Parts: sequence; structure tokens; C-alpha cells
Amino acid sequence: MAPLTTLGIGGPARWFVEAASEGEVAEACECARERGVPLFVLGGGSNVLVSDSGFNGLVLRVAIESLELKGELLRASAGVAWERCVEQSTIAGLAGIECLAGIPGTVGGTPVQNVGAYGQEVASVIDRVRAFDRMAHEFVEFSNAECGFAYRKSRFNSTDRGRYVVTQVDYRLRRRGAPALAYGDLKAYFREWKRQPSLTEVADAVREIRRSKGMLLVKGDPDCRSAGSFFKNPAIVPEAAERVRKFAAHTGVSVRMFAADGGRVKIPAAWLIEHAGFAKGYAMGAAGISSRHTLALINRGGATSAEILALAGKIRKAVEDKFGIKLEMEPERVGF
Ligand code: NAP
Repeated sequence: MAPLTTLGIGGPARWFVEAASEGEVAEACECARERGVPLFVLGGGSNVLVSDSGFNGLVLRVAIESLELKGELLRASAGVAWERCVEQSTIAGLAGIECLAGIPGTVGGTPVQNVGAYGQEVASVIDRVRAFDRMAHEFVEFSNAECGFAYRKSRFNSTDRGRYVVTQVDYRLRRRGAPALAYGDLKAYFREWKRQPSLTEVADAVREIRRSKGMLLVKGDPDCRSAGSFFKNPAIVPEAAERVRKFAAHTGVSVRMFAADGGRVKIPAAWLIEHAGFAKGYAMGAAGISSRHTLALINRGGATSAEILALAGKIRKAVEDKFGIKLEMEPERVGF
């Protein structure tokens, strides 16, 4: 499976099917059920860590690729590259996903983890999600409210994990909507501009910011042989935030913190990792840390999943020992 992932790591799938229609998705699910084999749904492979021994089951790649724009509604099949959606909508002057430019992966994954970045998330534009229900063996549709969206979360990756295979998503965008320019990095990018940037200019700016962090897939760029952010940015309790603040004051460094739900505090995981002793470009065998963003673990060439996990374990331990904060891994683990 290595060539199907952005990390370029992973042993073989016992069975593999690429489904080009909803009928083939249903057939693949039935096939796995009848034989009692586990099923893993693969999208763009940009947020997975596949075991060196591979996956002893059926890997289903949803490759349905239709994209349709009608008025303010963008209807995309699960196998469409997400970046195509951003391109088409911004060119058409439709606002709502311009800050989600440059994200690798496919449409099918977007409602699952409520993909978000630079001040926008898909939950604010998703109108309907169509999926195959592996329990009821039928296609079902969910309204936005039925998806159970929260920060990087939905029913599809929580209460109903593994139950549904997303085949199509409708995004409700806004014609003549202003671009979202709330995020610090973006505001800084446009600080000197005398006019409001267009949607395509905002999307391009996001791509450039992502590229500067090694978070844009660019052929030949060793920093993007990764699964994007390897750890979630944690939302910590106020006491833990206070400990971090004291550490920062004591060592004379600054730290950015943001209010999160339930009185918690969001803190950049990259900051914690750096101050636990890991610099950008850190290497441990063939596994390493991106030279442009401490949050991305990279395959420096020929790395195994075991090496990546060993480095991740070392980082987690150091952060926990120093700050008492447990970092959670973001990519999905397959075949472990
Ligand atoms: P960053 O800009 O260094 O931010 C780190 C953390 O600080 C994030 O939790 C971010 O919240 C928060 N933050 C920054 N500015 C904020 C503001 N003005 N108001 C509230 N919170 C703020 O992040 P990064 O690691 O380089 O990632 C860049 C963007 O990509 C972030 O938005 C991140 O969430 C997103 N991302 C998303 C996924 C995903 O959907 N699975 C994966 C990787 C990265 P937010 O997370 O709410 O932005």
C-alpha cells in the first residue's frame, strides 16, 4: 500500500478493490461482509499510517469521480480530489472553502474528520452526505445536523466509526461571499494589501503558506513525504495551560494559546514538541521531523511504520514528561 499513501509506507493489502460507482461500493462491502473480512476505506492516503505487514482484509478505494456545480451547490463524489473542489468553487466566485486550499486527500474524507484549516471547516458548508450503510446494506443520506459535526469530528469518525462509506457530498457555498480572513497567518499575508483579495487569491495564499510549512504536496519535496500533522493540536485544561505559561515565562519564550470549547485552551502541538527538545529536521534513522514544520513526521527514505511509531513514541514521552500533556496521533493507523 506504500504507493497509495503520502508517507510512502505500508505492506500489502490482502484484497484491494477500486470502486468506480456506488454499485461497486455496495458490492465490495457485501463481499467483505459475506466472507467476514475486515474492510478499510482508503481515500487519498494522506492521513494514514499503514503497518509494515499491511492489512489483512479488503482495502476499498472509492474512485467515483463526478463533480458538478449548480448555482451555489457543489456536488462531488467521494473520489474527487478535494483540491479540484477548491479550484472550481473559487474560480466560480463561490465562497466557503477558499481557506481549505492545498489540502491533500479526497472529498470522501472531508465530512469524516470535518476537515478544517486557516479558520474554515467543511461543517459550515456541508449540506448533505450520501453514504453506504454497511449495517443496513443500503444507501442513506444525512443532513448537516445529522452528521454530528464538532471540531475535527463527526458521527463517521466517532459513534458510527466504520459503519458508513461516504460516496457523495453536497457543499452549499456563497456567491459573492467575502473570503474568510480571520486566521493570523492569512491576515499577516494580506496586511499590506489595499483591497480585499479575491477568493482565488486567498486560496493561493493558503497554498503558499502551506508550501512554506511543507504541508503542500509538491513532487520531489522531501518534507511532504508525510501524513500532514502527525499529532492533533491539543485542547488542554486550564491548569495544564498555566504550567505551560509558567514554563514560557521562566524560559523567556512566547507561546500562543487560544480559547477552545468547555473552558479548555488550544495550544500548538508544534510548540510543545519544539520545547520538549525536538527541532525541525530532527532525524531518527529513516524517520524524521519535517525541516519546515515540527508537527509533520516524515519518511526520509525507506522508513518503516515501526520507525515512524518509534519516533512518535519518543516525542509523546518527551512532551508528557515535560508538560504533562498527552499528544494524540492524528493519522489513522491501518493494520496494526
Ligand atoms: P497553527 O497555525 O500553528 O495553529 C496551531 C493551533 O493554534 C491550532 O489548534 C489552531 O486552531 C490554533 N490557532 C491558530 N490561530 C488561531 C486563531 N486565530 N484562533 C483560534 N485558534 C487558532 O497550525 P498548523 O498546525 O500549522 O495548522 C494549520 C491549519 O491546518 C490549522 O487550522 C489546523 O487546524 C489545520 N489542520 C487541519 C487538519 C485536519 O483537518 N485534520 C490537519 C492538520 C492541520 P485550529 O486548529 O482551530 O485552526
